[in-house]
Amino acid sequence: MITAPPCELIDIGLNLTHESFAHDLPEVLRRAHLAGVSRMIITGTTVAATREAIALSRSDPHRLHATAGLHPHHASEFSPAVRDELRELAADPAVVAIGECGLDYYRNYSPREAQLAAFRGLLELAVETGKPVFLHQRDAHADFMAILREFRGSLSDGVAHCFTGTRNELDDCLSLDLAIGITGWICDERRGLHLLQMVGAIPATRLMVETDAPYLLPRTLKPRPSDRRNEPAFLPEVARTVAEARGESLEQLAASSTAAASHFFRLG
Ligand SMILES: [Zn+2]
Repeated sequence: MITAPPCELIDIGLNLTHESFAHDLPEVLRRAHLAGVSRMIITGTTVAATREAIALSRSDPHRLHATAGLHPHHASEFSPAVRDELRELAADPAVVAIGECGLDYYRNYSPREAQLAAFRGLLELAVETGKPVFLHQRDAHADFMAILREFRGSLSDGVAHCFTGTRNELDDCLSLDLAIGITGWICDERRGLHLLQMVGAIPATRLMVETDAPYLLPRTLKPRPSDRRNEPAFLPEVARTVAEARGESLEQLAASSTAAASHFFRLG
């Protein structure tokens, strides 16, 4: 029997340097490969995490890439020195985007003022380096849009990663020509139904998929791993759900999202 090769997919956001992958990373990468996940963009959430992401990318530079950023949870760490360090790290060929960066008023682990300052600082860095920006937003849509409206004209590109917002918020993001990253949130029957209904409105050229592993294990996955850890090999489940909601085949969605991600991150 001949089985079809899996569709090629790019995981645009995952946390491979997370401690939960420390004991079996080679196996995780092998399973991702077998599942058709050809490239992975490892999210840089702090200076230290960015360094680790770059180091990991070196082990397989054709498949692993990194972003250089500071998650809004860590915004209080932002300083001119941090910006200089991130600027230096962003010059590494492994780094394909600035971020993640943005605003998270859901958790407010850093005060809002600090989040706003860090977000502006990272956007300035994106403008300066000409790299696209990897954006995080939760419960902060109005402030997020206000700042992005200021910067969008000078930014080369941007993606609203792990988009979970409303239809109006989606329209706002698309009106600024932002790309949209969809995670396994869409596989959650309790809180992802609205995403199923609106994902068809995202132009194929601006739609990308991500696992956010080890977080956000798709609830539709069968069987589900007992440790509930998400991993890049589960990206096809996200892609399958998105494709179905758009009335497309998995092959179509895989081809368009892979092309969109290659173009966005300039993977060549
Ligand atoms: Zn995020």
